[in-house]
Amino acid sequence: MAIYEDFGEEFISDRLTSAEQNEEDNETEVSLRPETLDDFTGQTSVKEQLRIAIDAAKMRGEALEHVLLFGPPGLGKTTLSQIIAHEMGTEIHITSGPAIEKQGDLVALLTNLGQGDILFIDEIHRLPKTVVEILYSAMEDKVIDIFIGKGPSARSIRMPLKSFTLIGATTRAGQLTQPLRARFGHIMRLELYTPEELSVIVKRSAGILGIDINEEGALELASRSRGTPRIANRLLKRVRDYAQIVGDGRIDLDITKYALEKLDIDKLGLDNIDRRMLTTIIKFYGGGPVGMDTLAATIGEEAITLEDVYEPYLLQIGFISRTPRGRCCTYLAYEHMGIPMTNKEDKKKDGQVTAFDGDDT
Ligand code: ADP
Repeated sequence: MAIYEDFGEEFISDRLTSAEQNEEDNETEVSLRPETLDDFTGQTSVKEQLRIAIDAAKMRGEALEHVLLFGPPGLGKTTLSQIIAHEMGTEIHITSGPAIEKQGDLVALLTNLGQGDILFIDEIHRLPKTVVEILYSAMEDKVIDIFIGKGPSARSIRMPLKSFTLIGATTRAGQLTQPLRARFGHIMRLELYTPEELSVIVKRSAGILGIDINEEGALELASRSRGTPRIANRLLKRVRDYAQIVGDGRIDLDITKYALEKLDIDKLGLDNIDRRMLTTIIKFYGGGPVGMDTLAATIGEEAITLEDVYEPYLLQIGFISRTPRGRCCTYLAYEHMGIPMTNKEDKKKDGQVTAFDGDDT
């Protein structure tokens, strides 16, 4: 049941700060994607590991070992896989878990790969189980066994594959089967970016898009981008609109603050959904613990979206904590939302906590 029905304005900010790709992103992401490791800001340890692995594979004249990139959406998993292809000087074939429905779909992709090519599978955790089984021998022995016919006349044909590198991207490494995880030579976790790193990315994107932005404006925008380059790039384009219409076209601190306030994105980059999550936990569930499914149903969002897109940043800034019994708000969240922490205890004592207690800001 969705307690909140008024989705008008929230929908706008939801789209703005959701780390998931939308149509508008599609148009500019291609031009904003760095092409080399040197041009890729942040993720220092991932970059170092990749640099060594790529150079070593090139020196031996071999394909790179399979790579698993995991972390929240919008942090650069697709970008990194394209960089790897660029640095290795190979072709990249891009697909995603939900796009591969049958074994035959994957067989067709695998048999079309050239020597040393890269197969990038986004959302690899969503591959059907029967398809994953084909990947095991393909990744380990570079062969696929195809079964033809049924019953007593059934036989299997073994097809050799060229040496290839599988790059899997996922927001949920825990959902991969153990045998699949074990076949990746490199497992790398992408972290949320610092405001300073995001500010470098914002300035780089502004340069490519021909946007005039100063240091203070870039840092403010970066600080409100929830540690995510995709959001930073999206906000940059929105703030540019305000700068053109209300200002003189330049993005500085004032216009950034003005625009983000209008877009309902607060000092820390939290939008309406984040704030609903926090107030719901605090006011409806006494600060927690509350299970993700219950929370999602209360605010009318998908549990998966809350978990993959919203929760990582709230955990990172220490606003919520995960316990075996569910999510809890920390005192930092109470402070940010301007709700005294004693509220919870007082109300519990009076027996006043109900699911509809409190406003819905
Ligand atoms: P993911 O695959 O993890 O969802 P993407 O690789 O599609 O994320 O990145 C989303 C956007 O953010 C792209 O436009 C990309 O250019 C930008 N981006 C991501 N990481 C970086 C980075 N480290 N430096 C510069 N731009 C980045």
